[in-house]
Amino acid sequence: MDWWQKFISLKSSEEVELKRKKLVFYMLSYLCSLIILYFANQQPDSYLTLQITLNVVGLFFIVNALCSHFHRYFQTAMLTGAIGIGFLVIYLAYSGGHENTGLYWILPFPIVYFVFFGYFRGLVANILVYLVLIILLLNPENLAANYRSVEISRFLAAYLVAMILCLIAEYFRFQSYIELSVLNLKKQRQANTDSLTGLPNRRFIDSVLLESATIDPEKYFPMTVIIADIDHFKQINDTYGHNTGDQALIQLSELLKANCRGDDIVARIGGEEFLIVFPQTSVTIGLSICEKLRQLVEQTPIKDAEHHFNITASFGISQALTLYDFEEAKKHADVMLYEAKAGGRNQVRIG
Ligand code: GH3
Ligand code: MG
Ligand code: MG
Repeated sequence: MDWWQKFISLKSSEEVELKRKKLVFYMLSYLCSLIILYFANQQPDSYLTLQITLNVVGLFFIVNALCSHFHRYFQTAMLTGAIGIGFLVIYLAYSGGHENTGLYWILPFPIVYFVFFGYFRGLVANILVYLVLIILLLNPENLAANYRSVEISRFLAAYLVAMILCLIAEYFRFQSYIELSVLNLKKQRQANTDSLTGLPNRRFIDSVLLESATIDPEKYFPMTVIIADIDHFKQINDTYGHNTGDQALIQLSELLKANCRGDDIVARIGGEEFLIVFPQTSVTIGLSICEKLRQLVEQTPIKDAEHHFNITASFGISQALTLYDFEEAKKHADVMLYEAKAGGRNQVRIG
């Protein structure tokens, strides 16, 4: 993979995944706390501890979710929310909730850990909770609740089934998410790559690069913008054939790429036309690098099985001080290229 393809990343898929987690987290936090608070305040006075605990847990979920809105500590809020759920589950099993119905409320929770933490960590978290539940429920003499033994065995089996079903669902959801993300990434990379030379194409410049420069302009400006065009390329095709013409384009692309720096961008924006971008480079430095490129093109022969010949190229240079100047700089570089052609070709023109 070429370095520039790193610009086209899984970022958008990851954003969708985070959004999904956020939706579940906020729905769960607000909806569950309302249900918890409703049942807390339905309790008769004889269930004072249950009433207080449920009120505290309900308020805890609401405050936790609100804090994550305000402070943007979403990952931390998810972790504290998960700890809160663990506490609630164990408390319900221990106390029995209202008239020993606590176990019913535990069964919806295994899925939450899978959504929050993914299939592997979700499984670990679920197993931990399950082990605590087993230890608690198999020692009923230590419980405040009073369950029948058939209830305990059925509950433990039902929890196990719920856990396994959620694991299967989350595992295959995750696999299809990865497959779709990779497919999407591949398609995006294809759409931004020139198939002949493997260089980035015009679409890459207009969308991906400009988007990145909008987010992080200090990384790019001042920028030297160059448009290069092979001289008399039509004649090369006519003399040596179209396939050799293609070879010339491929070899020139390699030459330009190999002689530019790591952060520079060489894109093929037309038949035999290239856009070269030097980020964070004043136009004076850009000019000297460009002159070096011109000489290299002139001196490096194009070779294929039957032919061996030299080509030259003309270059127009301009500079963009901000993102808003970029389009203008491109147009100006094009005007300079035209002057280089008119001035006899195989030269660099700056303006
Ligand atoms: P100038 O010095 O003025 O730039 O002359 P030129 O002949 O290079 O320019 P012109 O625009 O007249 O011709 C460009 C040629 O490039 C014509 C076209 O057939 C050729 N071309 C465009 N794309 C490809 C390609 O992908 N492969 C090959 N082999 N030739 C291509
Ligand atoms: Mg040309
Ligand atoms: Mg041309």
